[in-house]
Amino acid sequence: MSSILVIADHLNGTLNSSTARAVTCARDLGIDTIDVLVLADDGAALAGEAARIEGVTKVRYADNPANAHPVAATLAPQIVAAVESGGYSHLLGPNTTFGKDLMPRVAAKLGVAMVTDIMAVHGPYEFDRPIYAGNAITTVAASEDQVLVGSVRSASYAEAPNGNDAAVEALTLDAELPSHTRFVNLEQHKSDRPDLQTATKVVSGGRAVGSEENFKLIYDFADKIGAAVGASRAAVDAGYVPNDMQVGQTGKVISPELYMCFGISGAIQHLAGIKDAGTIVAVNNDEDAPIFEVADIGLVGDLFEIIPALEARMQQ
Ligand SMILES: Cc1cc2nc3c(=O)[nH]c(=O)nc-3n(C[C@H](O)[C@H](O)[C@H](O)COP(=O)(O)OP(=O)(O)OC[C@H]3O[C@@H](n4cnc5c(N)ncnc54)[C@H](O)[C@@H]3O)c2cc1C
Repeated sequence: MSSILVIADHLNGTLNSSTARAVTCARDLGIDTIDVLVLADDGAALAGEAARIEGVTKVRYADNPANAHPVAATLAPQIVAAVESGGYSHLLGPNTTFGKDLMPRVAAKLGVAMVTDIMAVHGPYEFDRPIYAGNAITTVAASEDQVLVGSVRSASYAEAPNGNDAAVEALTLDAELPSHTRFVNLEQHKSDRPDLQTATKVVSGGRAVGSEENFKLIYDFADKIGAAVGASRAAVDAGYVPNDMQVGQTGKVISPELYMCFGISGAIQHLAGIKDAGTIVAVNNDEDAPIFEVADIGLVGDLFEIIPALEARMQQ
């Protein structure tokens, strides 16, 4: 019997929308049973939230003080125990920072290969995934005689809507947790702005912004239009912004309705992160910049003149 277990991605008591996106992908597999696993220190409320996601059969939650902070080394053995005791044929997680860290460990512990970045489903064991930094799509067929472990490219799937009332079940997992890896401290960039990976609008700055201080221009503009803020790797490497703001192949893959980028050249590694964006607006003072090949709206000019001009126009 085929059944799917989806790992819930959550932080600070809130379910990340990548969970409902992974459920949308799971529904495409055509397998009736889709359970969600919540690993937390006190996961009942989160489980209740996950139970509202359409398509979910049952939410199983396992409380453990060790789950207060999402440490992949601690979560992986618990997930293996849940998969083995539940007899699941498929295990899916999101390709967020959380899932990218976690899912390969789980696959390794289960002794199976893994399909990363699933962006389309052809059948329970056949998927499309990007290769060459998203410049080509390949169709892969996975082995049917082992547990299918996959990460779901959140940008490729809409959130499954709410409206369900799935069963919720507390679970006791027989898993030995490692002592060699433990949570010590979380250093996190805090922001009141929308979350970069789920925002409908994103404003990004590149190396051309020039400094951490100058990035205030990007933040202020983003705040005026209610957007999240992203950056190119060059801007991150130069220390203008923290690396959790990096958009691209080795950063975050995002799918906003509107992506505005200022002083970003449009290297393929950056474009890999915005393939699923709706409208792309680019401002660059070099009319030959590669970003203009993918931009829906391009403005040739100095970002330090264009941003104030856009703001002035918005105030009119
Ligand atoms: C393995 C690998 C992985 C990578 N992963 C990523 C990734 O995830 N994300 C990512 O972004 N990059 C990534 N890169 C780096 C990528 O190749 C580029 O180096 C990077 O994207 C360049 O950033 P940039 O466009 O901000 O800087 P630059 O290439 O320096 O471009 C700056 C642009 O700003 C324009 N400009 C200058 N002044 C102004 C002005 N006043 N007003 C308007 N425009 C101006 C210039 O014309 C230029 O086009 C990766 C590279 C490798 C090798």
